[in-house]
Amino acid sequence: MFLFLFLQTMFKKANNLKELISQPKNIVITTHRGPDGDAMGSSLGLYNLLINLGHNVNVITPNDYASFLDWMPGNDTVTEFDGNENKAIDITGKADMIFMLDFNSLSRLDNFSQTVADSKAYKVLIDHHQDPDIDIANLIFSDPSSCSTAQLLYEVIVAMDMTNKINMDIAECLYVGIMTDTGSFKYNSTTSKTHSIIADLIDKGARNSKIHDLIYDNFSADRIKLLGYCINDKLLLYPENNAAIISLTDEELNKFNFKKGDTEGIVNYALAIKGIIFAVLIVQRRDIVKLSLRSKGEFKVNLIANKYFQGGGHTNASGGISYLTVNETIKKVENIINIHKEELNN
Ligand code: 5GP
Ligand code: MN
Repeated sequence: MFLFLFLQTMFKKANNLKELISQPKNIVITTHRGPDGDAMGSSLGLYNLLINLGHNVNVITPNDYASFLDWMPGNDTVTEFDGNENKAIDITGKADMIFMLDFNSLSRLDNFSQTVADSKAYKVLIDHHQDPDIDIANLIFSDPSSCSTAQLLYEVIVAMDMTNKINMDIAECLYVGIMTDTGSFKYNSTTSKTHSIIADLIDKGARNSKIHDLIYDNFSADRIKLLGYCINDKLLLYPENNAAIISLTDEELNKFNFKKGDTEGIVNYALAIKGIIFAVLIVQRRDIVKLSLRSKGEFKVNLIANKYFQGGGHTNASGGISYLTVNETIKKVENIINIHKEELNN
């Protein structure tokens, strides 16, 4: 019954959206700060769909992103708000519609958030994070059970009866979103539906093996050496509490010629150690410290991120920030491990 109601409302909302995009419009697509594969894959997937439908479309990201995402079709047209503020404000001022993908609160747009908040454009949120701020959009597609925004977007396209509009470009972008947010189809969020959608995307032209290569086997030597350094020299283990911490200062990053995206995925190596169910990567970014939290099973890192680091995310993958030094942040995480040792030993 509930599934029926959900499908019905999905169908209704999709029809509503289909009507809204039936006439050419000025459209802005935006996504969260520090865009990852799902943020860019879903944004550029939607970009290519809307371009093909005859709209004037601009993707605006709050800031820049990893170069291993640069090859996606439409990437050359993306505007980064940081450094291009006037252009981004001008484009957003002319927008009839704004699509907001892969985030649940305007604060995730950082410096771009006020521009979007001020805009009178019709806003559509498509997202898979828990508890979206429902007052930030006119139309909301939210499914926290979905592995990725890209998968949810695919389902919205299907519900609009536009599956036949998914060409190779769109298929490849959506493939990136689903592949990266599922850790290459291995996280709990991966379902048979995910695999069915992936099968369809491959049928529509997504070069699955090539995409994997472009995203995961495309690192600089410095990045691989940074990974080695993290594992060899920077891994703190708390085996009695099944936890691990890796930390990096600005200085250390500079030593390895840090480029955007170089620390992505490093936290997973700590989590790959037998017995470890809670792993934290602490990275200094000039005057703030960014945390990536990962867990296995029931330990909810989104609650930890929210309670201690002004952040959030998913049950097993979250992030947040700290205004302490790297060393003080390590101490704070050690303290949190202690506070939560019973849950960590469950
Ligand atoms: P990552 O560790 O890869 O940066 O982020 C993992 C997930 O945590 C993201 O997909 C996002 O859902 C969430 N996340 C990361 N940083 C933040 C943050 O500063 N605030 C909130 N609310 N969520 C974050
Ligand atoms: Mn996502």
